[in-house]
Amino acid sequence: MESVRLYVHCVRLLINDCFDTYDAAETVAATTVIVLSLLWLTNFIFQEESLYSRAKKLIFRIARKIPAVSLKIECEKKKATNDFQTNMMRLHEGRPYVTSLPKKGWKRERILEEVKSNLKLGHYKWDKGFVSGCVYNFDDELVQVLTDVYGLASYTNPLHPDIFPGVCKMEAEVVRMTLNLFHGSEEACGTMTSGGTESILMACKAYRDYAVEERGITHPEMVIPVTAHPAFDKAAAYFGLRIKHVPVHPETTTVDLKAMKRYINSNTCMLAGSAPNFPYGTIDPIEDIAALGRKYNIPVHVDSCLGGFITAFMDKAGFSHPPYDFSIAGVTSISADTHKYGFAPKGSSVVMYSEKKFLHHQYCVFPDWPGGVYGSPTVNGSRAGGIIAACWATLMHFGVEGYASATKKILTTAKYIEEGLREMEEIFVFGKPGASVIAIGSNVFHIYLLSEGLTKRGWNLNPLQFPCGIHLCITYMHTADGVADQFLSDVREEIKIIMKNPKADVAGKMAIYGMAQSIPDRSVVGDFTRFFLDAMYITKGRDDQFLKNGFT
Ligand SMILES: *Cc1c(COP(=O)(O)O)cnc(C)c1O
Repeated sequence: MESVRLYVHCVRLLINDCFDTYDAAETVAATTVIVLSLLWLTNFIFQEESLYSRAKKLIFRIARKIPAVSLKIECEKKKATNDFQTNMMRLHEGRPYVTSLPKKGWKRERILEEVKSNLKLGHYKWDKGFVSGCVYNFDDELVQVLTDVYGLASYTNPLHPDIFPGVCKMEAEVVRMTLNLFHGSEEACGTMTSGGTESILMACKAYRDYAVEERGITHPEMVIPVTAHPAFDKAAAYFGLRIKHVPVHPETTTVDLKAMKRYINSNTCMLAGSAPNFPYGTIDPIEDIAALGRKYNIPVHVDSCLGGFITAFMDKAGFSHPPYDFSIAGVTSISADTHKYGFAPKGSSVVMYSEKKFLHHQYCVFPDWPGGVYGSPTVNGSRAGGIIAACWATLMHFGVEGYASATKKILTTAKYIEEGLREMEEIFVFGKPGASVIAIGSNVFHIYLLSEGLTKRGWNLNPLQFPCGIHLCITYMHTADGVADQFLSDVREEIKIIMKNPKADVAGKMAIYGMAQSIPDRSVVGDFTRFFLDAMYITKGRDDQFLKNGFT
């Protein structure tokens, strides 16, 4: 104690000595300036976005001001806008745009006729299994059941449980049935949402509020694999969360656990893993992620949106898989899409929690609204009771046996295609596909050449970037006789053609994709993406033909 006091005294003398030649005002001014500068510097360096990324953006922003560069970019943007619009209008070819309400309401026959004509647009044969993912099952009998059920419940709204208790009961049952598939305990709970994105948004919202309100974290951060769905980025953008993307192992394409551990700090509000992820269909090591969550007391979300209704039935279908659900301690939430392999119509998904304390932070409650005490479980206020009923009906229509048999067919087809692809030495399969998605790349030629070739043959696959790849998401549509063989033989034939000139440049639509990856200024790619989205909403023809044929 005595020595500490002596030490403090010495330091004091030393400091006084140093500032001997300054007067008090000078010392105060210098201190203030230094403290403020340090504060400014810390704020400048430690922002949401890294210094490096901000510097890069600044350089590009300056570069874009150079007249020659800006002219070139503007020109490319105009061209892209034009291309996107022309392509979209070509897809609508022959169908005039309705741009204002018809004067008199249409009769049923006319409406049906027009809807049918609109639905005929598009040339991909999705019903013949030529498309990756997208439509997960199509069956006339199921469509009939769903149409009847939706019709019956079309006017209902679970926002009013006292008025439509039946539709609320069905929602509760969908949630409970799904929880049981994922080994949720009695305590486990959840809600239906409008889709996988909303399910993920809700989990992120719940964990943000849990972190802020229960754990005293002021700047919550999410730590997620770089392969996780953009819904997490959307959540970060919507809810003001910081997001850290953990790299994956290039070989396995599953999350690098060591890096994940490094990214965890006292602000981490959630960890996540995909089972499986969208790009490669590989399953992150959920048990290890859950162990990290337990060790640091951080909630863990498992994104099973894509494959949940496959992985849940793999055991019964005779396929093995690593554990990924509530049977692992530390997994605190799971998202699973009924509207993917659950085969329900689009607009339904389930988000589940191991405990109520998380779900309670998903809810939004406003006790003081003049319109009454308001509480709502998800993003939407009013919700479509018809979709809930249709989802419930789908689960009941398939039952355990129906799903297990569909899973068996889908995975048998997937394994068959995977083996076939692995035999082709010019290409490789990324990692070990965990369920129904198979991604391929090539060290011999640009894989987009294969994508382009397959497109010409009527196939629609998903392009991947960083590194380049393409994937096929195998659905029930691919289990029909001959589809898998047709795919494999088309791939083989295309590779043969490509190998005549393997160093050829990528042309056509895929060239834009390839180019987009090499543009270092990502804001330009962002703008192109916006123009693409704009084109979706086009309702005018460039030539008068569209206008002249306008409806009355
Ligand atoms: C499809 C998907 C989602 C959610 O997407 P929605 O289109 O909103 O249903 C989330 N994660 C993965 C891995 C997906 O494939």
